[in-house]
Amino acid sequence: MPNKKQYIWYDGKFANSEDVKVPVLTHSLQYGSGIFEGLRSYEIRGNAAIFRLEDHVKRFINTAKMCRMKLGYNQKEISSAIKNTVKKNNLRDSYIRPFAFYNDSNIGLDVTGKKTSVIVASVPFGNYFKKKDVGLKCAVSSWRRINPSILPTEAKASGNYVNSILASIDAKSEGADEAILLSEEGFVAEGPAENIFLVNGETLVTPAVEADILLGITRDTIIKIAKRDGLTVEEREVHREELYSCNELFFSGTAAEITPIISVDSRKVGSGRIGPVTKTLSKEYSDVVHGRSDKFRNWLTEVY
Ligand code: PMP
Repeated sequence: MPNKKQYIWYDGKFANSEDVKVPVLTHSLQYGSGIFEGLRSYEIRGNAAIFRLEDHVKRFINTAKMCRMKLGYNQKEISSAIKNTVKKNNLRDSYIRPFAFYNDSNIGLDVTGKKTSVIVASVPFGNYFKKKDVGLKCAVSSWRRINPSILPTEAKASGNYVNSILASIDAKSEGADEAILLSEEGFVAEGPAENIFLVNGETLVTPAVEADILLGITRDTIIKIAKRDGLTVEEREVHREELYSCNELFFSGTAAEITPIISVDSRKVGSGRIGPVTKTLSKEYSDVVHGRSDKFRNWLTEVY
């Protein structure tokens, strides 16, 4: 099949993705000064529904504020750009990437007077992790998660992801599928682009904000689903050893959804197979994002 044309929303207009080019000296390319979001749309009875659109846009706007970047668009305008991008590309299951950057190629860190551009891309999307259905083998990284005295960990700022990328590269070079990062204090924080959950019987445990995590929207979704199911949810400090002794373990994220972890540092998690609570939550998460759960339908914004 020939490749379909892809449209990018670029500063208020749609452009063919092949025509959207920036100079290699662009500030945000050189210095990682961009900010971004990641959302998904899911097919629901022929329509596309964006999951937790307003929450993602709020985080995008807050990230800009934390980085003192002037977006030039408000919540409503960005939400509508996102919806229109999915529509323009005639997509159903997609990953959506809003990105704001300093669109200026004068050498130098100073951003005073530099133009900010905003783009929204949306691409067809399936599983982020190829091994989602069998589970990941993870390794605790020697790179500690950034902390808020250095970079705003609550922000989806491009530069933050150098930390994530280094951890991920090292984990893969050592034969693992993905890294798990500890906070500077040595508590479990998160994956490179995923939050993490441990399961012990009927209790779900996830690192609290004090571990310098990004407060994931999927994390919040899972906490709400689990509470509805009557599970106990603990947001607290998590010791590294708990990764080795828990019954089940999984990553959560917009891209990762719920991705099981079956080993950490060559130690099996539980039986070494995907556990029952992970399976149930995974199915329930899928029901929620596909509009099969009445309770959480207000999280879905239909596009067409
Ligand atoms: N942590 C980090 C560092 C991330 O980049 C992401 C992906 N946005 C997450 C956690 C998960 O967040 P969400 O569930 O909002 O996608």
